Amino acid sequence: MSAARLPSIDKLLRSRACAPLQQRYGRDALLKTLRDLLDELREPAREGRLAAVELTDAVLAGRAGERLAAWHSNRVRRVFNLTGTVLHTNLGRALLPQEAIDAITLAARYPLNLEFDLASGKRGDRDDLITGMIRELTGAEAVTVVNNNAAAVLLALNSLGARKEGIISRGELIEIGGAFRIPDIMARAGVKLVEVGTTNRTHPRDYEAAIGPRSGLLMRVHTSNYSVQGFTASVPTAELAAIAHNHGLPLLEDLGSGTLVDLTRWGLPKEPTVQEALRDGADIVTFSGDKLLGGPQAGLIVGSRELITRIKKNPLKRALRVDKLTLAALEAVLGLYRDPERLGERLTTLRLLSRPQTEIRAQAERLAPLLAAQLGATWQVRAEPALGMIGSGAQPVARLPSAALCLRPQQPKRLRGRALRTLEEALRTLPIPVIGRLDDDALWLDLRQLDDEPAFLAQLSHLSAEVE
Ligand SMILES: *Cc1c(COP(=O)(O)O)cnc(C)c1O
Repeated sequence: MSAARLPSIDKLLRSRACAPLQQRYGRDALLKTLRDLLDELREPAREGRLAAVELTDAVLAGRAGERLAAWHSNRVRRVFNLTGTVLHTNLGRALLPQEAIDAITLAARYPLNLEFDLASGKRGDRDDLITGMIRELTGAEAVTVVNNNAAAVLLALNSLGARKEGIISRGELIEIGGAFRIPDIMARAGVKLVEVGTTNRTHPRDYEAAIGPRSGLLMRVHTSNYSVQGFTASVPTAELAAIAHNHGLPLLEDLGSGTLVDLTRWGLPKEPTVQEALRDGADIVTFSGDKLLGGPQAGLIVGSRELITRIKKNPLKRALRVDKLTLAALEAVLGLYRDPERLGERLTTLRLLSRPQTEIRAQAERLAPLLAAQLGATWQVRAEPALGMIGSGAQPVARLPSAALCLRPQQPKRLRGRALRTLEEALRTLPIPVIGRLDDDALWLDLRQLDDEPAFLAQLSHLSAEVE
């Protein structure tokens, strides 16, 4: 064979086989792909390593088509979160209710009154779109919203404590995933960290002793992702607020998850609410939009009018502001809180968190034989009780009683590790990747969040070939 057998790029580009590709991906993308392909084949063709059939228009177009499809496929992919962790930071946290999705679509498609006061026809403030609702729901005097809670903490600290000291218990110097550490954020906010107490015990007198002429604020941080147990003591918010106010200092409380409702009503563990923190005297409370609130990524800052005014004047606020899609979704989600009666069905996060174990168990029992049939005799598939988590730092020790499909390899012991890894990868590379959890020599698919059963079942047939 000789190099002459490679078709010319022009001929290939104009070939009937390539016409649909040009139609779909455009001439430039097709041309580049064909050129790359021919460049790669030149050498093997010259050395006679290719059969003539490999250089036909049809085969080359097929290969170009595969590359173009891969190149054009979205990197943002839907997955099944069967990890058992509902608010999974790596898998996108809260799933939005339909009301919020509709609001996002509207805000994306049309012009809107983002910073335009329809009553006066004058320039408006984007925070005003949701201020009324948040005040109504939390009892706060004033509100501002930024990109996420990390931004909220940074902005509040910088606005209220720059060049002054921020006093905080050693037991609350937390690190959240993704390099959010309170001491680092304080430093970046220009606040000098003053640690008081010890890891397990901090008393009112510790705060009192630390307060001096350079003090700017007292801070309390919800210990989101761990729990200090045993011989412990911390100062309740009400008492801490009293200490702060006696010295004319504000108390800033970072609630992390911060819910607006008493979760015990839905059989969930108690989480401190925003209303309680405000009632106890916190002057500024910050919390996330996409954790227990069940909304879009956002950081909400609520509290005293005077302090919020100072926060809003900080030039950093402009750098950390939220976009219109977030505000639209947030307003829709907050609207659902006006009807607590139906919140459990309408707010997706709450619906998933409060799904009864019996219902999940029945689903697992229904699906187990179907999955077993696909996986064949080398796998044991059982419906088993499982323990999930809320995630994103809410109630780190609490477990959500759930049910899972437990997939156990039946191969000889030495082959099981590899079988599990193969299955885990096969699930992860399905058209809609399935993300489970490896534990105790088994792969667990916690079904609390599986509400699209047809889509899950439809792709099972892809599985068998790979794991047999
Ligand atoms: C999650 C959390 C944060 C960070 O919130 P993001 O919205 O992820 O930026 C900050 N503080 C606490 C206590 C948290 O739990």
